[in-house]
Amino acid sequence: MHDIQLDAAGRLRHLITTEGLPAELITRILDTAESFVPEIGAPAKKVPLLRGRAVFNLFFENSTRTRTTFELAAKRLSADVINMDVATSSRTKGEDDLDTLFTLQAMGADVFVIRHPDNGAAARFAANAAPGVAIINAGDGSNAHPTQALLDVFTIRRHRPDFANLSVAIVGDIAHSRVAHSTIHALKTLGATDIRLVGPAAFLPADPSALGVTATTDIAAGLADCDIVMGLRIQRERIAGDVIGDIADYHRDFGLTEANLAHARPDALIMHPGPINRGVEITPEVAYSRQSLILEQVTNGIGIRMAVMAMIAGHRGAEPARPA
Ligand code: ASP
Repeated sequence: MHDIQLDAAGRLRHLITTEGLPAELITRILDTAESFVPEIGAPAKKVPLLRGRAVFNLFFENSTRTRTTFELAAKRLSADVINMDVATSSRTKGEDDLDTLFTLQAMGADVFVIRHPDNGAAARFAANAAPGVAIINAGDGSNAHPTQALLDVFTIRRHRPDFANLSVAIVGDIAHSRVAHSTIHALKTLGATDIRLVGPAAFLPADPSALGVTATTDIAAGLADCDIVMGLRIQRERIAGDVIGDIADYHRDFGLTEANLAHARPDALIMHPGPINRGVEITPEVAYSRQSLILEQVTNGIGIRMAVMAMIAGHRGAEPARPA
């Protein structure tokens, strides 16, 4: 997969998945993001790296954090940003997604940020995009969500930079989560060896060892002495039928509650990609506790998305700008 993502010089061309991304490249993205995250209390930085470029946000699925932080990130890079409301676009008139891509390319799009319910949609767009047009995957089905994974490891690195000695527990609906898939790859590439998946059997992967992780249905064992606890929402939109049963039981057995977190290290940090479902996979007290990084993840998402877009499109500054 990384062939489609990198150009002949090893530079980022599209961002479809964290799988196969070299550690040096991930580190370069995180280092670049550091330069874009303002000091606390300082005004946000605006830089001209994408001046004259057009970034299209093409969301075929709902989003709060990802779409708005991509928009902010593109604006802070001085790009022209177009937010496509796909619900009111010609898709409802039967236009194929690729014809939408070709149409928007004809308007001079440089970067597409795409969220789509189908696994593999971002790779399909990348395979069909015109030369020089970049595709950034903002979540495709249960497959991948690479910028979320990058902001997750960025946030972890700021607090616990020693990945080799880190214990990370990912708790909840792992099987249907594109975030889990992408974040596991990014963590492993940066050297994490102790990644534990915790959830009911229906939410655990069939073969965790193939992913280089361990899995358990016992939250006490899964959280024992871990440094980072990452909660995940139940991806109901991707689940047919009721596989969970009683929500109160699920919350007791797998929720990030004070009782369950007592098994983790006392200074364990709490993460969640959002949106959170209060009383299901987390309590509001935990989500907004002093040890929670959840809102910092949102803030860091802006810097990560600026870094990714700058690295993909910023280096093409030598090419003539398109006419406005
Ligand atoms: N916002 C994340 C995603 O789009 C996580 C979630 O929806 O639960 O995958």
